[in-house]
Amino acid sequence: MKFGTKAIHAGIEPDPSTGAVMTPIYQTSTYAQESPGVHHGYEYARTQNPTRSVLEKNLAALENGQFAICFSSGLAAMDSVIRLFQPGEEVIASNDLYGGSYRQLTKVHGRYGIKSLFVDMTNPAAVATHFTPQTRLLWIETPTNPMLNIVDIQALCSLARQHGIITCVDNTFASPYLQNPLDLGADLVLHSATKYIGGHSDVVHGAVITNDEGMATQLRFLQNAVGAVPGPQDCFLLLRGIKTLHLRVERACQNAVKIADFLRQHPKVKHVYYPGFADHPGHEVAKRQMRLFGAMVSFTLHTDTLEFATHMLANTHLFTLAESLGGVESLIGHPATMTHASIPREERLKVGLTDSLTRLSVGIEDVDDLIADLAQALEKLPA
Ligand SMILES: *Cc1c(COP(=O)(O)O)cnc(C)c1O
Repeated sequence: MKFGTKAIHAGIEPDPSTGAVMTPIYQTSTYAQESPGVHHGYEYARTQNPTRSVLEKNLAALENGQFAICFSSGLAAMDSVIRLFQPGEEVIASNDLYGGSYRQLTKVHGRYGIKSLFVDMTNPAAVATHFTPQTRLLWIETPTNPMLNIVDIQALCSLARQHGIITCVDNTFASPYLQNPLDLGADLVLHSATKYIGGHSDVVHGAVITNDEGMATQLRFLQNAVGAVPGPQDCFLLLRGIKTLHLRVERACQNAVKIADFLRQHPKVKHVYYPGFADHPGHEVAKRQMRLFGAMVSFTLHTDTLEFATHMLANTHLFTLAESLGGVESLIGHPATMTHASIPREERLKVGLTDSLTRLSVGIEDVDDLIADLAQALEKLPA
């Protein structure tokens, strides 16, 4: 089955008890047993819920995996992945990482003896120089946030495998429509389904997908034993969102190309970060591992100050100033004061995260209106 067909059909059968074509919301915490231990495979809803089971089958298919395990958020999913490892073992993560992932590794798992190291992953061979006998997991994010660097998944996973190191790719920014890390040799794929998979900015949810039965069993154990499970209504909303995932992402990517081009030739814009540009350092790798170049675009202003950025951000109307990404509506964000405010200024300047850096999550509105919105906000900036 091709992607659009899987999005709509994979794992989805008419409900066995009623024939309902759309998966019902099984809003129940427990299930009747005929006699002790005799039941229909469902005992208690932390352990099993039919709405969630259908979503897990569907998500597994979207990432070409056999197993998907769902959690109440992307960070809850990450927490279970890190719990696969032991005190004294080490995680190597990308140095241009989702802020919440950085916080969890350093401030939560660090306290329990799991060490983490943050390195530039754009050069796979350089990453391998950091491998030690304690290195157990590579945590890869690509495209990165907010600089939109590209990491070569296939090259890095192959190096890790030679050293017996497990790889997990946070595929949130690309979505399963654009990039399938398991096909490129990754062991685990993680999604914050809050973003493109849900696609309507109305659910917080996470998932891990794998073909490794051993790790799937451990993750399912943690899902039940730790208990960060999603509710059935959220699972339903995700199933509904996924039916249009391919259409939404396709349109958002088309819009992003035009917006990136518009920004690039605008006199008040200094630099545009977008992997779809032929001169982006990760362009060739992106072309190989992604179906399209994504719908995230970052840019800096010619007058690279906080004051100018604030001025522009106050003047967009269709682009809403907000955290998050991947919804049908366009969002605009300012990493230095929002998502990456906890990183010291000198540190963020080193990776190019300057005071005016602005991040767009391009939605699926009419692109002419989106460009007009950015044009008038840029126009209002002092010369
Ligand atoms: C949002 C996000 C997360 C965290 O997911 P939540 O659903 O908010 O817990 C992890 N990784 C990336 C890349 C994200 O954008």
